Amino acid sequence: RAKHEGRNRYCFFSDELEKQVLQRHSLQIKLREAINNNEIQVFYQPKVELSSGKLIGFEALARLQDEDGNFISPCEFIPLAEETGQITALGLQVLEKACAQAALWHQTSCDASISVNVSVGQFGENDFVETVLSTLEKTGLPPEQLELEVTESALMSDNDKSYSILSELCKRGIKVSIDDFGTGYSSLSYLKKFRVDILKIDQSFVKDMLLDASDLDIVKTIISLANSMKLHTIAEGIETPEQRDALLSLGCQIGQGYYFSRPMPADQLEDYFQSHQP
Ligand code: C2E
Ligand code: MG
Ligand code: MG
Ligand code: MG
Repeated sequence: RAKHEGRNRYCFFSDELEKQVLQRHSLQIKLREAINNNEIQVFYQPKVELSSGKLIGFEALARLQDEDGNFISPCEFIPLAEETGQITALGLQVLEKACAQAALWHQTSCDASISVNVSVGQFGENDFVETVLSTLEKTGLPPEQLELEVTESALMSDNDKSYSILSELCKRGIKVSIDDFGTGYSSLSYLKKFRVDILKIDQSFVKDMLLDASDLDIVKTIISLANSMKLHTIAEGIETPEQRDALLSLGCQIGQGYYFSRPMPADQLEDYFQSHQP
C-alpha cells in the first residue's frame, strides 16, 4: 500500500512538475519574442498629492500580453527575466518607452515626473548610469523628471558600487526611491550612507493599516523616519478614502493606488489629465 501510494505521489509530482516546466518554457519564449520585437508594453499609474488629488507623476509598469490578449503579471515575468539574463534588455525597453512618453507629455500635457522600476540585475550592470543618461539624451527628457525605483536588495548586493551609482545619479539630478520599503532589510543603517530621495511605503502595510495595529505602527515609523532624514514618502496601494485620510493625517503627502487610478496605457490617460491638471 505504501508502495502504491508512493508511486501515485511520484506520478502526481512528475505531472505537476512537467506542467510547470512547460509553462515556464513557453513564458520564456513569449518573453524573448516580446523583447526582440520591442513589444513589452508600458502602463502608467498616476501618483497624486493626497490632499488635493493633484497629479504629481506616473509610475511605469511593464506589461506582457499573450496571444489571447491577456496580460501576464510582471510578478511572473520579471523574476524570469532576471533568471534568464533578459532583465537588462527588458528594463531598457521600459526605460526608453517611459522616458519617451514622459517627454511627449512634457511637451503636450503636463510636467509630471516618471518613475521606472530598476531590478537587481539591471542595477548591477557596469554601464547602468551611462545607459540611463543616454536614454535621457535620446528622448529629451530632463533628468529632474526621472525617478528610479530600486529595492533594498538591489542596493545591498554591492555596497560600494551602489554608493557610487547613487552619487552619480544624484549629481545628474535623477531621483531615487526605495520601492517596497520595509519589506527588505531590518537594518536601516544603509539609509545613512546612501543618498536616496523617497521611501515608498509598501502596499502590504497600507492594505491593513486600518485593521492591524502593527501595520499602522510600521507606516507611522516609516513616515517619521523619512521626516527625520528629510526624505519624502509615497504610499503604495491606496484603495479607499479612509486609507488616504489616515496617511494624510500621519504626514504622508503622496500616494498611488486603485482609489485614484489603476495603471493604464498612455492613450487612456488623456481623460485623467483633463480632470487632474495641477
Ligand atoms: P511595484 O513596483 O511595487 O509596483 C506596484 C504594484 O502594485 C503594481 O503591480 C501595481 O499595479 C500594483 N498596484 C497599484 N495600486 C494598487 C492598489 O491600489 N491595490 C493593489 N492591490 N495593487 C496596486 P504590477 O504592475 O503587477 O507590478 C508588480 C511588480 O512588478 C512591481 O511592483 C515591480 O516590482 C515589478 N515591475 C513592474 N514593472 C517593472 C519593470 O519595468 N521593471 C522591473 N524591474 N520591475 C517591474
Ligand atoms: Mg515600483
Ligand atoms: Mg512597490
Ligand atoms: Mg510592491
